Amino acid sequence: MSNSKELRQQTVGRIVLLTILTLFIFAAFGLAQGPEPVISTVTVPIEKQVRQTFEFKDDRVYFSNEFPGGRLNAIEKDEAGRYVVTITPENAPINMSPWYAFKVWSRKKKEIQVRLVYPEYARHRYDPKLSTDGKTWTPLDPQKIVHEGKDPQDEESLPRSAVISLTVSRRPVWVSAQELQPSSEVFAWMDAIAKKAGAPIEEIGQSREGRPLRMLRLGNTSSKRMMLVISRQHPPEVTGYFAMQAFIEKLIDGSEASSAFRRDWGIYVVPLMNPDGVDEGHWRHNQGGIDLNRDWQDFNQPETQAVRNFLSRRIAETGGRFYFGIDFHSTWNDIYYPMNRIYEGNSPRLVERWLGNIQAAIEGYEPRIQATERLFPTRVSRNYFFDCCGMEAIVYEIGDNTPRDFIRKKGEVAAVELMKLLSEPRP
Ligand SMILES: [Zn+2]
Repeated sequence: MSNSKELRQQTVGRIVLLTILTLFIFAAFGLAQGPEPVISTVTVPIEKQVRQTFEFKDDRVYFSNEFPGGRLNAIEKDEAGRYVVTITPENAPINMSPWYAFKVWSRKKKEIQVRLVYPEYARHRYDPKLSTDGKTWTPLDPQKIVHEGKDPQDEESLPRSAVISLTVSRRPVWVSAQELQPSSEVFAWMDAIAKKAGAPIEEIGQSREGRPLRMLRLGNTSSKRMMLVISRQHPPEVTGYFAMQAFIEKLIDGSEASSAFRRDWGIYVVPLMNPDGVDEGHWRHNQGGIDLNRDWQDFNQPETQAVRNFLSRRIAETGGRFYFGIDFHSTWNDIYYPMNRIYEGNSPRLVERWLGNIQAAIEGYEPRIQATERLFPTRVSRNYFFDCCGMEAIVYEIGDNTPRDFIRKKGEVAAVELMKLLSEPRP
């Protein structure tokens, strides 16, 4: 009797010790990763920009932000005769991605100077792209751009402001941080893809302002083998969107490989996650003043809710699985953010092999890859895709200034190599 009691006490003692040890290890691991900042994704107020045409009657020069994607918050003339354009965000704090876009014209053809200024906490990031039809864009000649207020000690530092020289005439010229790709352009592209591929478009929900959240359903949509593609959670990230376009266009290019792939796989694509932010000319957030790519834990915003609901619905309807998920973004330089290899989903090592094959397929290309260690709280799309559905998931980032033809090439190669891996015979 006393023997068994002793044994029980010993066992209880061991369990307590083991528990303490386990807690200690978890705590140490957590500390090593740093504390996770708590950022609420509950809707906050935003400052809506006033849409208007700004007239300088004496000069007969006009500026306008009255078009989707436009952003110009205020304008005045300084003593030097320059037009000082103030660019402010939808709300703050906010990421350093100060989007701007405006039209400018003049009664007489002349050269004008425009100074782009930002709030104290922001810097000039995007040198202007110009267009006369809103479709074709060319970077402004670097000779016509003067960066102001760079840190002289730091070559890499961003300027506080920029002065640009523009030739203006009766024909309006668009001046934009990156090529303008408002919802109308994205939807036209989707319609063209849907037509070419004979594929339907589904509305999976609506944005906060009631714009449609449109999804392309490509390939075999009754297949149990599925993948998900999203882009443009962040409005200015046009280069990531270009990579997504090249990627999708390759998946439907009519080649034998792509046709075979689409017979086997269901491919679900949301090219424009944040149509309100894009059309309102936002720096980063949706109309709820929230960074959508921090809302994949709490799902306070309709845009993230729509994708979450779609995923659970589709898995229930098909009885299948999502094997791959990709979210296209832009940042300073090209970089891939996969999951750490310790996380194994429905197709372990798929992303690792895929990135290796992309590197091998592009001569002299050394991709930058940074795997994420932290999965919880999920917050960002990639982590949620893995956590909800076992997708091998990745954030695919393109640099702001990556040459546009190289973006296309990378997007196409990414599609070709993915199709090869996903078409391998399976047990
Ligand atoms: Zn982004």
